[in-house]
Amino acid sequence: MSRAMVEPDRAAGGAARKSVYFFGDGRADGNARMRDLLGGKGAGLAEMMSAGIPVPPGYTITTEACRRFFDAGGRLPAGIVREEEAMLARLERLLGRRLGDPENPLLLSVRSGAPISMPGMMDTILNLGLNDLTVEGLARKTRNARFAFDSYRRFIQMFSDVVLGIPRGILERELTSEKRRAKAAEDVDLNEEHLRGLVARMRRVVREEIGRDFPQDARAQLSEARDAVFRSWDTERAVHYRRLNGIADTLGTAVNVQAMVFGNLGSTSATGVGFTRDPSTGEPSFYGEYLMNAQGEDVVAGIRTPHAIESMERELPEAYAQLREITGRLERHYRDVQDFEFTVEEGRLFMLQTRRAARTGIAALRIAVDMVDEGLLSKREALERVEPDHLDQVLHPVLDPAARKRHVLLAKGLPASPGASAGAVVFTSEEAVRRGQKERVILVRAETSPDDIAGMDAAQGILTATGGMTSHAAVVARGMGKCCVAGCTALRIDEAKRILRIGNRTLREDAFLSLDGSTGEVLEGDVATSDSEVVRVLTGKLTPKQAPLYQRFERLMAWCDEVRRLRVRANADIPRDAKIARSLGAEGIGLCRTEHMFFAEDRIPHVVTMILNAKEARDARLQIRRIEEDLAQAPRSERPGLKAELTRARAEGRAAIRDFDGALKKLLPLQRADFRGLFLAMEGTPVTIRTLDPPLHEFLPKREQLLAEMAALGRSRKGDPRRPRLERTLARVDELHELNPMLGFRGCRLGLLHPEITRMQARAIFEAAAQVAKRGLPVHPEIMIPLIGDKEELRRQRAEVEAVAREVMARLKTAIPYTIGTMIEIPRAAVLADEVAEHADFFSFGTNDLTQMTFGFSRDDCGRFLPDYVESGILPHDPFVSLDIRGVGVLIQRAAFAGRRSKPGLKIGVCGEHGGDPASIAFFEQTGLDYVSCSPFRVPVARLAAARAALARA
Ligand code: PEP
Ligand code: MG
Repeated sequence: MSRAMVEPDRAAGGAARKSVYFFGDGRADGNARMRDLLGGKGAGLAEMMSAGIPVPPGYTITTEACRRFFDAGGRLPAGIVREEEAMLARLERLLGRRLGDPENPLLLSVRSGAPISMPGMMDTILNLGLNDLTVEGLARKTRNARFAFDSYRRFIQMFSDVVLGIPRGILERELTSEKRRAKAAEDVDLNEEHLRGLVARMRRVVREEIGRDFPQDARAQLSEARDAVFRSWDTERAVHYRRLNGIADTLGTAVNVQAMVFGNLGSTSATGVGFTRDPSTGEPSFYGEYLMNAQGEDVVAGIRTPHAIESMERELPEAYAQLREITGRLERHYRDVQDFEFTVEEGRLFMLQTRRAARTGIAALRIAVDMVDEGLLSKREALERVEPDHLDQVLHPVLDPAARKRHVLLAKGLPASPGASAGAVVFTSEEAVRRGQKERVILVRAETSPDDIAGMDAAQGILTATGGMTSHAAVVARGMGKCCVAGCTALRIDEAKRILRIGNRTLREDAFLSLDGSTGEVLEGDVATSDSEVVRVLTGKLTPKQAPLYQRFERLMAWCDEVRRLRVRANADIPRDAKIARSLGAEGIGLCRTEHMFFAEDRIPHVVTMILNAKEARDARLQIRRIEEDLAQAPRSERPGLKAELTRARAEGRAAIRDFDGALKKLLPLQRADFRGLFLAMEGTPVTIRTLDPPLHEFLPKREQLLAEMAALGRSRKGDPRRPRLERTLARVDELHELNPMLGFRGCRLGLLHPEITRMQARAIFEAAAQVAKRGLPVHPEIMIPLIGDKEELRRQRAEVEAVAREVMARLKTAIPYTIGTMIEIPRAAVLADEVAEHADFFSFGTNDLTQMTFGFSRDDCGRFLPDYVESGILPHDPFVSLDIRGVGVLIQRAAFAGRRSKPGLKIGVCGEHGGDPASIAFFEQTGLDYVSCSPFRVPVARLAAARAALARA
């Protein structure tokens, strides 16, 4: 735990708050609202006690005491120890039994309980208070010596493990050999005599291990156990769990000390766990399991197979009826599904714990909507009960929970795009395309590039070794709604040999892998997946009537729309994605990355021709224009010379200009068709189309590939006509090579140097819009200029677009309402937002680039250090996943303010990945932005997050 622990909260007068809270005899000092102080378990026990539910009495030592324990270097301050002694005395009085009394011993359980549940991460000790004398007392009182010695051996085992630090296996071995000696199949088959012998042997082993006797003083046992439970907050696994789940280290755990009740007292005793509704489906059925004649850890440890809870109705009918009544009452009281633990001691039921049940996304949705119908929750409360990430699970296929347990977890990467998939490993996109039509494949790459689009499309899932949450693989997979695990640094890919190493395992092409894109887990083999019902309805495979989950989903979404203010759009580049986005409730397209439209196989050659000739064509045009200008003003005597020069320049530039213009001409109708498809799919809602923003080299063939082709030619005929073309291409590839292409010749820089490209795109947009408008359908294009750092860049690009708009509208005699705006993704543009706004009808924050450039972290390779930054606490989280509110967020706030001051009513949105992140959405809501835009499958998540953010502000 960090040294920078907060001091205990002192009241204004300076008196420290109470550190130990009692519960017993139908009364409790605490209540359910005190989770932070008493932990979930302590608050739940207090609440149950006050509600008259049978709970063994005890006390809770607060999380604040835990903080003070660590502050004092691992010792509980004397004042708290005294408070605890007083509470113990009160407990002893209440029960008429004393801790350590050989005649009538009080036995205790000591359990952890953090404010946020960390299942199984911290420690528990049961049967505390047993020693060589009290065990005999317990045997006499219960007239059950077998039970007493069984409890003692359990206590020795637990205490030795948790407090004395003796590896668990050592005493477990004693138990196993005793069973072997006694020819006992199960623990319950050991009789009193066996258990007496076993206890003696275990005590001997303990002495050998720690050099002293197993502690016999019951009070010393208690303080040692309490301190060990506090310390278990800080074990490596607990710290790791908190990192994974974003739980603060400073919360601390409470310790609950409670009178023991025994589920192992014989044939009318039992112990079990359960849920008031099914936590994986949400079905309103009582769900749980129990063991007769057992203690709690037997159920958890899986030593014996528990029975389904229904059969308890037969075995312990009264306790069962009471359990149903109490758990039903608890569910109504908390108005939420409960996860409970209970013990039946000689027919008498005791509740040991109740807490909010963890649940799958499907269950969360069903429970929330059902509880509105049952009158338990308001619609608003229902929205608060479903986490945005739950909806993600509802939409994506998942690995079957039962099936996954049978497979080995190989590694964990970043949960880049949710869902689940399984398939045979392939290492190249070509292979993925070739095999992907007939079988399931997983594309495994170091990192993907635009070359891999077809392979990604053909694969079931994508796994990459480097690259972060906004790497190419992650962004594109999310857009496709396809499962992706990125940045899985444990992978060693040998593409040449076609093998993949993970740890000490070597997998060849064809080996099966399964990916969980919601957790980043990579499992060996073919784990079964289940498809999402909602998606089946959206794709027409089911009717809404056949799909109750879909119906609930739609109702919850409608409730979101009643309360949210932020609009939600989608990032979509092709009509198919746009249609899905629309059916998931997108109110427009916030970003169409037009470069993605160029990746299709039939377009790449034209794009390559365009790029290869762009510079020569531009140089030639500039040269021709200069000579023409000179010629217009030249004296007669110089004209013949200039005319000759002009003819030469025209001749020299002809090929490049023809090829460049020719490529644009080829691309124009293709883009026009794309845009028309998008406009139609979006049914008149606004469609923001961004002019080209690619690092150019992404489109060109790889240098290594060209060199290989050259080498192959070298071995064949010398005068091969392909050689000059290859040489020229190689020269251009070298010229265009950039060390960090993310900061290179991309964004509006391309359109400024080659305005013909912007014009072609603008023409395609307006001609497509005109075609749609002529059919009498509404259309609202919004043209967006990317990556500007200065208002002049925007002004010039805007002028190009406007000129084309005028020309097309006049020619086609159609008026099209349109706007022109810009992305704010370079910090300079954010700082000068008031100036930029002069030329913009809207702003859209490109938070991917804005994060990259504000931090100076390259999106391409920050995966090498960013995980360590987060792990070691330099940054609280990956800023490419959830907005860095303190830095990037402040830039956004200021830019939005300055932009609107300069242009009142300026429309402002976000189209970086953060547009689909709930925490970032809450910030955008507070900042007063107009919309967020995210990948299609994220749209429902954003609708819910926007609704919750609006409710939080109300
Ligand atoms: C951004 O930078 O946030 C953005 C949306 O653009 P891209 O990810 O395409 O660079
Ligand atoms: Mg960008």
